[in-house]
Amino acid sequence: MTDKRTALVSGNWKMHENHFEALKLVQELAALVRAAALPEGREVSIHPPFTSIRTVQTAVETDHLPIALGAQNCHHEDRGAFTGEVSAEMLAKLNVAYVITGHSERRTHCGETDVDVRRKVDAILAHGMHPVICVGETLDERVAGDAAHRVREQVSAALSGRSGEVVGGVVVAYEPIWAIGTGETASVDDAEQMCATIREEVGRLAGAGAAAAVRVQYGGSVTPESAGALLAAPNVDGLLVGGASLDAERFVAIVRARA
Ligand code: PEP
Repeated sequence: MTDKRTALVSGNWKMHENHFEALKLVQELAALVRAAALPEGREVSIHPPFTSIRTVQTAVETDHLPIALGAQNCHHEDRGAFTGEVSAEMLAKLNVAYVITGHSERRTHCGETDVDVRRKVDAILAHGMHPVICVGETLDERVAGDAAHRVREQVSAALSGRSGEVVGGVVVAYEPIWAIGTGETASVDDAEQMCATIREEVGRLAGAGAAAAVRVQYGGSVTPESAGALLAAPNVDGLLVGGASLDAERFVAIVRARA
C-alpha cells in the first residue's frame, strides 16, 4: 500500500439527540469545524437518528459545512407495506451520502443477518450512496481464534459478486463487538491486523484495485486519546465513533487527531 486513502471519521449518534438537540450539536460542530481547516486527507460524516436527519441536512447545507450526512440503517425495499421502516430511496432524497449497515447492535437486537445486510447494501448502492458495512467478532469468537474467519465471512456475504469499481467505493467498518461502548479499545496492532485482513478479503473477492481503494474504518470505544495512533496504522482508513461523537469537542478532537 502506498498513499493512504482519505480517512473517513464517522459519528454514529445511535438513538440519541431529538431534532432540537441535534440542531444544537450540529451548531457546536459547525463552530469547531469552522475554526480551522480539517486536516488534509480527512472526511467527516455524522449519522443522526432518522427523525433528526432533515434538521441536520438543513444545517449542513445552509452553512456549507464540510460534513457529509449519514444514516444508521435503511430497509432494502424502496417502498411498501413495511410499517416503521425507512428506505434507502428516502434517505437519498435527503442527500444522505453514507448509510451504516449491519451494525452489531442491529444484528444483536433486531436479528439482522448477513443476508439482510447484503440486501441493504444492494439498496444503498442502487441509490448512489456509500454503505458503511459493519463487521466484527464477539469476544467468544476472538477467544476461540475464529475472529478473522467470522470477519471474512461477513465481508464476503456483503460484497461477493460485485465489480471491483463498486467494491472500491464502499466503506467497511471493523467493529469488534467486545469493544463497542465498553471503553475497551482494540490495540492498534489488533485493529491494523484485522483491517489488513479485511483488505485482503476484498482483494480476493473483487481484485487488487478494489483492495487498494476500499476504506476500512476501525470502531469501538475510540477517544481523542486513542484516535491518532489508530489513524496512523497503514490499513486503518478512518474511525466509526459512537459515544464520543455526542460531544462536539471530543468528536472534533478525534477528527483532528494527528496520525
Ligand atoms: C459504534 O456505535 O459504532 C461505536 C463504535 O460505539 P462506541 O464508540 O461508543 O464504542
